[in-house]
Amino acid sequence: MHYKEHNTKPIQKVAVIGAGASGLVTARELLRQGFEVTIFEQSTNVGGLWVYDPKTESDKLGLDVEKRIHSSLYSSLRTNLPRDIMAFSDYRFDSSGGGDNEWPRFPHHTQVCTYLTNFAKDHQLIELICFNTQVVELQYGIDHSNVTLKLKSGTDAKPVLSTSYFDAVAICNGHFANPRVPQLKGMSSFSGKVIHSHNYRDPEAFKGQRVAVFGVSASGVDIAREIASEAAEVYWCGDTFNRLEGKSMTDPTLKNLHLFSCPTEIDNEGLLAFEKNQPQPIDSFIYATGYHYDYPFITQKEIISVDDNYISPLYNQIIPPDYQRIGFIGIPFLIIPFPLFEIQARWFAQVLKQKVALPSAKEMVETVKLRESELQESKRKKRLYHQLGDEQIPYLNRLLSEMNDAPLPQWFLNLIDECQRVRTKHPVTYRDEVYQVFGPSKVLH
Ligand code: FAD
Repeated sequence: MHYKEHNTKPIQKVAVIGAGASGLVTARELLRQGFEVTIFEQSTNVGGLWVYDPKTESDKLGLDVEKRIHSSLYSSLRTNLPRDIMAFSDYRFDSSGGGDNEWPRFPHHTQVCTYLTNFAKDHQLIELICFNTQVVELQYGIDHSNVTLKLKSGTDAKPVLSTSYFDAVAICNGHFANPRVPQLKGMSSFSGKVIHSHNYRDPEAFKGQRVAVFGVSASGVDIAREIASEAAEVYWCGDTFNRLEGKSMTDPTLKNLHLFSCPTEIDNEGLLAFEKNQPQPIDSFIYATGYHYDYPFITQKEIISVDDNYISPLYNQIIPPDYQRIGFIGIPFLIIPFPLFEIQARWFAQVLKQKVALPSAKEMVETVKLRESELQESKRKKRLYHQLGDEQIPYLNRLLSEMNDAPLPQWFLNLIDECQRVRTKHPVTYRDEVYQVFGPSKVLH
């Protein structure tokens, strides 16, 4: 196998695709290393996913990509992490940073959006953003010394196409906009309401109904409970309740919320069958089944492949070994997003600056392959290969040590443990409980 050598031509101009949390902090880290940064953002706002959009897509399963809505937030959403943990390392969620001392420990989504907008303003990033500009194609130069971006701006009716050249690019386009909808036998003949959580905004439409919510990750947890406050019955189904402490996920005040195994089939009368429970008649079905990683602008298929939500090859889940002027920021999941974005971005910026030395392309590919075979042997599903969970702290500390930075602070680790403890004890009300461990920001309530 032939590996391409890294082109050592100095890097000056770096593009960032996306002005969400990962794009903003990446731009800040690149600026700190002295690069000339341009951010391309397809919408007219900063904040990415945190820019709430009350509109939904015409295809409620979100499979029609004609008019993609980026945000997947529901109206009531508050963060599932306390703001001390969620914040970037040196920019708090209180009045000393981009927030307000009066905000709750688990802020509302509008407050996160304000925080990110303030971050962009306070770090002079707004002037670097080309809004309403979508990256439609990325071409990696033949001699590996540049990246060409094809851009689309203007309106749908009158698009304006252009081309820009850079020495490197950071891909920060997010991965919570393109719904993953597993096949369910009989679904095409079911005449009830069927949506993906991407298009869920509030529970009113489900008043008095019998609803199945399929999926037990963060969105499934919130949506199943919220709908139970309006619906007649909610069958919350999935296969990983163990990870979420099993029965303790139910709310004693919500007697109509039932934990069920995975759905297997639905008939045209709306009778839903499950792996281990009795069939139940339903009126509506909600897929809270996650999202696909999507890079429509990467047409050179040799750069990466995406197979069952696994992007390969990526060294440290960031750099394609043969295309070292591209960094993917924010790929891992089951993580603490903003701090992870920040550390990955700093590491990538230092790689570009040649402060952090990469192994040879061959060694990087071998490292990726070794990880893949370990995951395969442990029987992990491919679509979960980017999941870090308990591995995130060692992962982040390793990146930090490669930069000669201090490891994550002890208060941060203690607060993670405290969150785990409170959430296990109070799975429903954890956002408003009393916490014994504090972070650096001022939290009044
Ligand atoms: P995004 O925020 O999605 O930003 C990507 C940006 O790239 C967007 O602005 C988009 O318009 C732009 N873009 C995409 N493609 C292109 C292109 N081709 N050209 C130009 N621009 C482009 N995280 C937490 O820390 N705490 C929480 O409580 C939390 N709750 C969540 C709840 C839900 C329902 C979901 C789905 C996620 C939640 N997350 C939470 C995770 C969240 O995804 C991250 O916090 C973070 O906001 C992701 O940032 P990002 O920059 O990677 O992506």
